[in-house]
Amino acid sequence: MHPLARLDQLYLWHPFTQMRDWLRREPIVLQRGQGAVLTDVHGHDYLDANSSIWTNLHGHNHPKINRSISAQLKSIAHSSALGFANEPASLLGEKLVRAANPPWLRPRPQAMKSKTNRLSKVFFSDDGSTAMEVALKLAYESARRAGNRKPRFLSLDGAYHGDTAGAVSLGHIDLFHKAFSGLLFKTDKAFSPYCYRCPFNRSRPQRADARDYRQCQWECLDKLESSFTRQAKKGVPYAGFVFEPLMQGAAGMIAQPQGWLSKATAIARGQGTRLIADEVMTGFGRTGSFGTNAAPGLFACHRENVQPDFLALAKGLTGGYLPMAATLTTQPVFDAFLGDYTEFKTFFHGHSFTGNQLGAAAGLASMALLHEPGTIRARLRMEQQLQVELQRLWALPNIGDIRQVGLVAGIELVKDSRTRETFDLKLRAGIRVCDAMAKRGVLTRPIGNVIPLIPPYCTTPDQLATMVQELGKAVAEVFRTPVSKRAISS
Ligand code: PMP
Repeated sequence: MHPLARLDQLYLWHPFTQMRDWLRREPIVLQRGQGAVLTDVHGHDYLDANSSIWTNLHGHNHPKINRSISAQLKSIAHSSALGFANEPASLLGEKLVRAANPPWLRPRPQAMKSKTNRLSKVFFSDDGSTAMEVALKLAYESARRAGNRKPRFLSLDGAYHGDTAGAVSLGHIDLFHKAFSGLLFKTDKAFSPYCYRCPFNRSRPQRADARDYRQCQWECLDKLESSFTRQAKKGVPYAGFVFEPLMQGAAGMIAQPQGWLSKATAIARGQGTRLIADEVMTGFGRTGSFGTNAAPGLFACHRENVQPDFLALAKGLTGGYLPMAATLTTQPVFDAFLGDYTEFKTFFHGHSFTGNQLGAAAGLASMALLHEPGTIRARLRMEQQLQVELQRLWALPNIGDIRQVGLVAGIELVKDSRTRETFDLKLRAGIRVCDAMAKRGVLTRPIGNVIPLIPPYCTTPDQLATMVQELGKAVAEVFRTPVSKRAISS
């Protein structure tokens, strides 16, 4: 065993990992990265097919991001935002506000007062969880100050918004969250769409040959609406409707049908509820190409012309280089915390590394890259190629659903695609497929029975084809299915 692997096993405890399994075999110790390729201590190359847990945007070791961080390092690595401003954080704040208010956006539905639609203030923090904590506390306290004595929140079934106690309270995945219920505050769970397993049997087929499709009547939205009306009967609306727009990541890459987001948020707005959008996974171009060359659409909400009151960003904010996050919000929320010092209306929240200069320098370089015409074109090409490549996988009997939104895909494994029967989690179907993929030089991490593919934007056409083909081969190998060659080869 490599000495670094031994040290890891002696001293470290890994997140979301059964450590008994971890200690059974030599872990992959990554040492270098270049573009979409990761290299381990033994010199083996792997394709980073989940962008290092959905963080990396432009590839590893990117010269422009490296240069930006190195230049910043020559001045200062970190000074505190508690009491002091700094250059890269201020510059990044401006870039984020611009990107969050593109000129072509026509917010539908309007906020309570239309001029409050702008996301004009940026609160920096450390990661996705803290970005959501900030949104939650701001929404809670601004609602309380507006006279709501018990602000309450509604989030989606399958929601995952991070691992700190507030973020976990918003979560609705029993496997992750139930054990901590005694630690948490109560939030309500809203019905969320999962078309492949639609309880109204109206699943929108992605395959041309699917036959069980009846006209969807948006029954899922009726269910959502009834959550809001139940709350309205109590005399106070929800203080916040919390959602991941277009695709629920940790729920299993579950895509919302087109139109759901604008309709769901219109219901919330109609009830006087603020919108809290978690774009930790979906932000920074993940959900595909739209907008204009001068102002590319970077946030999933904007695909459906939705402008939230809170926008939580992390992961890709620094191009996936450093832990840094941001919560954007509106002037009215900001104003709710203004007052004379002695009124103590200050937002009493902050972290030691808030506004960190190295993270902000990486963020500035990443934002510049996202706006380069060449990278905008490359993202569009990649999105189209991914769609074509994924089609081949339908031929495999253990692939039930393939969900793609832009540059994110979730491939759902089933016992039999004709019956849609799921694998018991104890069978570790997803883990086995990802292990087989790793042996074939492609790294991703399963979510239960779903295999995510979220490639970095620098992935070449050959690399993208390889990611999908090796996934297909791994599925065929694990379930020993005879498959047509077309499904898994170029
Ligand atoms: N929100 C979403 C949608 C996420 O996917 C995640 C992490 N996967 C988080 C929040 C939490 O982010 P972090 O792990 O950076 O705290």
